[in-house]
Amino acid sequence: MGPRRILFCLAALCWLVTGPVFAQEQVLGLRLGVHPDKTRIVLDLSGELPYSLFSLADPYRVVIDMPAVEWATGTGSAGAGGGLVAGYRFGLFRHDNSRVVLDLTQPAEVSKTFFLPAAAGKSVRLVIDLVPVDRAKFMAGAGFKGRMRVGDTVSGSSKGKAELPPPVIRSERITIVVDAGHGGVDPGAISRSGHYEKNIVLDVARRVQRHLVQSGRYRVVMTRETDVFVPLRERVNIARNAGADLFVSVHADSLRSAKVRGASVYSLSEKASDKEAAQLAAKENSSDVIAGISIGTETDDIVRSILIDLAQRETKNKSVRFAKLLLPELGGVGALLRNSHRYAGFRVLTAPDVPSVLVELGLLSNAADEKLLMSAGGRDKLAAAIFRAIDQYFADRQS
Ligand SMILES: [Zn+2]
Repeated sequence: MGPRRILFCLAALCWLVTGPVFAQEQVLGLRLGVHPDKTRIVLDLSGELPYSLFSLADPYRVVIDMPAVEWATGTGSAGAGGGLVAGYRFGLFRHDNSRVVLDLTQPAEVSKTFFLPAAAGKSVRLVIDLVPVDRAKFMAGAGFKGRMRVGDTVSGSSKGKAELPPPVIRSERITIVVDAGHGGVDPGAISRSGHYEKNIVLDVARRVQRHLVQSGRYRVVMTRETDVFVPLRERVNIARNAGADLFVSVHADSLRSAKVRGASVYSLSEKASDKEAAQLAAKENSSDVIAGISIGTETDDIVRSILIDLAQRETKNKSVRFAKLLLPELGGVGALLRNSHRYAGFRVLTAPDVPSVLVELGLLSNAADEKLLMSAGGRDKLAAAIFRAIDQYFADRQS
């Protein structure tokens, strides 16, 4: 074992024991090299750092985990692929864990991985070689193996029965959970001029929080306050553990057609109101897959049992009541989508005892909506609209 190797092992050990001590390191760039027999991924780094690799199936992905690092690539946090890589994303997965997710065009495995030292004006490079394999071989090696376990938040029940934490006894104070969609390694939709949904919705969510706090009438819990990934199930658990009276998930999606514009509001239903709503739910539900989490079929069973359960609950009626108050408020700021209140099986709306809606502020694929969402004035008007609807919804309770 050479001195470099020993140093690396010490660094890895240090990381395991003390957590993120490499936060000062930077990723300077990510490059792909396509060769006849392999696809090479090169990460330019400010220094060596510990990392772990694992692969996930359906869809085929390779995940690179490392301590929280700064991304100095200046090229955004997602990129097009080449060779065996269909595309990639990077960002925070946890506060102490940065992640790169590589989407593969076919089953492939890591054949080689090594560091190249800084030399001749070049930075330290982490090199990862991918070679094609058949599905059987891929499946034999697939699965989460690293330290970055996210634990119970994503490991579904094997019994296929909903196992959610017991609801918290509600306080007299009205608790609102504001959920900024996506985050970290999941950028969400990307606008016409390259802006990310995750950043736009976090800013609007913060503005909603400010309105609510300033009114003095609400306790506000945010599912995220930074550019970090939060699994969908954890968002639901945050709402339940907070004993929330209302859960508002803030999004700004995109469509293929650039002509369509307008806000829309979604509530949970076993059966989708229409094809577009079903497609949108499928897209939003894929957040965990995008972030490199393996979703078992158990999770689907849990969602299904909650959906059936929900049909009998007044939670659903309350969610619909809030959606109907929210739409005219949003309509006063910008355009509304045709059939602006829709239903579908959104995972993030499955807290059985918390009225929950998902609001799409507008469509990032439309120029007018993008302009509204990229202006501070537009964002604040949208946040104020959400705040007014919340105030109306709780008007009875406050009197
Ligand atoms: Zn979204």
